[in-house]
Amino acid sequence: MSVAAIIGGGFYGASIALYLKRSRGIDQVVLLEREASLLSRSSRTNQARVHRGYHYPRSFTTGYRSMTNAPRFQADFAPALQSSFTNLYAVARRNSKITSRQMERFCQEIGATLSPVSPELAALFSPALVESVYHAEEQAFDAEILRRMLMRQLAEAGVEILTGREASLLSHSDDGVRIGIAGGGEARELTADFAFNCTYSRLQTFLGDSAGAEPLGLKHEISEMLLIEPPPALSGLGVTVMDGPFFSMMPFPVRGLHSLSHVRYTPHNHWNEDGSDPYRALSDYERESRADRMIRDAARYLPAIAQARPRESLFEVKTVLTRNEGDDGRPILLRRHGPHGRLFSVLGGKIDNIYDIFEKLDEESLSTGRGAPQWTH
Ligand SMILES: Cc1cc2nc3c(=O)[nH]c(=O)nc-3n(C[C@H](O)[C@H](O)[C@H](O)COP(=O)(O)OP(=O)(O)OC[C@H]3O[C@@H](n4cnc5c(N)ncnc54)[C@H](O)[C@@H]3O)c2cc1C
Repeated sequence: MSVAAIIGGGFYGASIALYLKRSRGIDQVVLLEREASLLSRSSRTNQARVHRGYHYPRSFTTGYRSMTNAPRFQADFAPALQSSFTNLYAVARRNSKITSRQMERFCQEIGATLSPVSPELAALFSPALVESVYHAEEQAFDAEILRRMLMRQLAEAGVEILTGREASLLSHSDDGVRIGIAGGGEARELTADFAFNCTYSRLQTFLGDSAGAEPLGLKHEISEMLLIEPPPALSGLGVTVMDGPFFSMMPFPVRGLHSLSHVRYTPHNHWNEDGSDPYRALSDYERESRADRMIRDAARYLPAIAQARPRESLFEVKTVLTRNEGDDGRPILLRRHGPHGRLFSVLGGKIDNIYDIFEKLDEESLSTGRGAPQWTH
């Protein structure tokens, strides 16, 4: 009987739980989530873009991988996708790290379609600040439909889901990984053959110094995503201005609104991993919205957005690997903690990177010898 514990029920934890059951034949998989329901944190509070590479013209690998992964995500989660909007990418004339020509060449290299827009759509942009506008094929996902689909699949696969449970790492050794579990009215311990740390911004917090390994190299930022009601002229559109201190507006299906993020104003602060709890940093943060500045600056490029009505700001911790800061790439981290190799830490920079994680996990041996799952009350 083999047992795996997954800590963190976001998109990554839920998907890895399914992978272990379906593809690796692990007998018992226990998914532990501290919130009351799955996909409550960054897997819900994000821009909901199914990336297809356009966003990463300075990182060929990231762009190419997105282009490869997007069709798989679309096939697996079709009911959660929204494509009933016109998605535009524009290149700014000044302060852009790429030119229109470079954007076109990059999309050609990764095989992403970029087509011309009608004069009416082009006229929505300020000609003084915007060099070119293209149609790009991207979709948005509805995080609530995604959650429901995953819940159903987890139940069918027989994954045991424990929500409202906070897990802590007690030890990991040749015998297995011991995890303390608080919440649900009792404290207990679970010993599993393998544990997967899928806590995103809390990866290092969960490990503490007990993993005895090199730091994971994380950088966190408190980010504000503004939800807006767009004016009628923009309601059927997604708009991303490349590639610098600009903005991006996308439908946000889970709320029936649009999200607006701005490279300069969305990140409120940032820090390199220092062992403190990023969730604590977020809950202590005063959360003063920068809605006015986001809309005002975006309106320089897309004048109609000045009429948008701000509805709410969503704050979340965004976590990236420090090694990707230069190229804006968002690759993955899969660390198997030695010397026992029973504990893994997983970070995916974007939703579609889950397929890169599966590919890497396919290379890992998960042989076990444990008896019945060990619960201690
Ligand atoms: C502002 C923002 C915008 C983004 N935009 C996009 C986008 O447009 N497209 C895209 O593809 N990606 C985007 N991303 C990235 C994407 O959201 C993440 O890559 C993805 O959601 C990570 O999933 P996850 O399961 O690892 O993390 P999460 O969904 O955060 O899951 C981690 C889970 O661990 C739980 N947890 C933490 N500690 C414990 C513990 N001790 N015990 C039990 N449970 C615990 C948490 O409650 C949480 O549910 C964005 C991210 C942010 C923050």
